[in-house]
Amino acid sequence: MPSGRRVIVPPQTRSAGRIRFRRVWSSVSGQVPVGHAVISPQPPNARTRGSIPVHASAATTEPYAPRRRPVGASPNWRRPLLRQPRYVLAALLAAPAVAGGVAVLWLWWLGTRGLALRGLADGLIIGGRITGLLGGYLLLVEVALMARIPWLERRIGSDWLVRVHRWLGTYLITTLVAHAALLIGGLALLDRVPVGVEASTVMLTYPDVLMATVALAMLIAIGTLSANAARKRLRYETWHFVHLYVYLAVALAFAHQIVIGTDLQYRAARTAWSGAHVLVAACVLWFRVWRPLRLSIRHRLRVQRVVREADDIVSIYVTGRRLELLGAEAGQFFRWRFLARHVWVQAHPFSLSAAPTPRTMRITVKAVGDHTRALQYLRPGVRVIAEGPYGALTGVQRTRRRVLLIGAGIGITPLRALLEAMPGGPGDIALVFRGGSSEGVVFQRELEEIASRRQAIVHLVLGPRVTCCSRHDALSAKRLRTLVPDVARRDVYLCGPPGVLEATREALRDAGVPRRRIHIERFDY
Ligand SMILES: Cc1cc2nc3c(=O)[nH]c(=O)nc-3n(C[C@H](O)[C@H](O)[C@H](O)COP(=O)(O)OP(=O)(O)OC[C@H]3O[C@@H](n4cnc5c(N)ncnc54)[C@H](O)[C@@H]3O)c2cc1C
Repeated sequence: MPSGRRVIVPPQTRSAGRIRFRRVWSSVSGQVPVGHAVISPQPPNARTRGSIPVHASAATTEPYAPRRRPVGASPNWRRPLLRQPRYVLAALLAAPAVAGGVAVLWLWWLGTRGLALRGLADGLIIGGRITGLLGGYLLLVEVALMARIPWLERRIGSDWLVRVHRWLGTYLITTLVAHAALLIGGLALLDRVPVGVEASTVMLTYPDVLMATVALAMLIAIGTLSANAARKRLRYETWHFVHLYVYLAVALAFAHQIVIGTDLQYRAARTAWSGAHVLVAACVLWFRVWRPLRLSIRHRLRVQRVVREADDIVSIYVTGRRLELLGAEAGQFFRWRFLARHVWVQAHPFSLSAAPTPRTMRITVKAVGDHTRALQYLRPGVRVIAEGPYGALTGVQRTRRRVLLIGAGIGITPLRALLEAMPGGPGDIALVFRGGSSEGVVFQRELEEIASRRQAIVHLVLGPRVTCCSRHDALSAKRLRTLVPDVARRDVYLCGPPGVLEATREALRDAGVPRRRIHIERFDY
């Protein structure tokens, strides 16, 4: 936390009382209300109806300046021919990944086909070799998935990449443990010595196996700490720091693969294997290290101003040169590193909360922990390193003309930007802001202004999060159908913290929205 109680942001102006929202009801096809209406929480938690309390956001000192022509906000929507939704791309991408696995099996087959199986020991050793090869390949795929390759991050989306990475992680650890166990078991049978003796002989006398054993121990530790139960208890920074050891583990394991890997005895196989490692290492260095540095040097990003939106929420405006070259879109996020005391060591993801312009980008940060609390006191002028743009919660996913955007809590940020920038005519875009209480509601004036300018439908739904079942949630399927009667025929963009997302997704499924049309960004890692 910054020292003292110096508040850098412009002094917030509070106004007591309530703002009465103008209800704009007109009709599209005689049915759908167009404009905006603020819907109160469901009874029994109803506190507001047609009006919500004003807090700092409604009277912020740096008002949002609406653009006459928001980026991308054309009234017409046409799906570009080559832009496929991410589940199509993911399926297409799975093919080369599986082909890589098949190539690995083929390598193993080349080295095995002439051998005669003379007993259990041979079987175990052959099993150890195949699991070793597959484990090495999976490890490489795992690192590649997290190399922040822009195309993957934008088209498939970081959340899906993380999910696949996590899912494969379990298989990776199982395969590598099986590799070590099968080989040692097989060799112990051949040498007719106890497994413990064989294990220490292999570790201490075979070239580079000790290093590989250390690598395996590191990967098991990382895998264990990444399991759901352990991860929830760890601070993100600790978890992230421990994860960096994966690179060391890959390097340590590589030598033993090349030196004693029977299946890599062919020169071509060794070259292909080493080439794949070099390629993945180059991607990691380029996209995770060099690209963010180059981006910050080229665009000279700086904090322009910090505006308080609510007691624990600020908007940070970042300015720079020729930001259009970044290719950022509404709905995307960057990993931001602010070069100020106390915060420069950490880079955290924050979505753009307004459509980016060639001169500015805006993020809006809610204080939930050490880092986000410190960001509330950021000073204008602070240099910024941004890594991105990432995320697939963009127009890329859209398959329908009509769209429903649902933002839960601070998850409203990317949807606020999408509301501004998504192409669409009157009634095409609807937004539901799902808040826990009126204190967390931000962007009231902006939403109102954009809604009336774009003739979009905006609803505010307040109410505590229901953990048992979506039927009793303030945003139940029934409520969704009442607010947006054609919800089942729309693409739905959903964003926010995990728990509430699950309830809302369930409600959407109950309301008849097919899974493939629900596009989600989780504010989670
Ligand atoms: C794609 C994405 C976009 C986001 N956009 C916004 C936004 O626009 N506005 C906003 O206020 N918040 C956003 N968040 C959440 C924000 O990144 C976390 O609240 C923030 O990193 C918390 O850091 P902390 O140190 O203050 O809190 P901590 O106490 O360290 O963490 C609080 C919780 O935030 C999550 N978290 C912490 N660090 C990270 C991280 N580096 N990456 C992912 N999750 C993390 C963890 O689940 C943790 O339980 C976004 C998160 C993601 C993944």
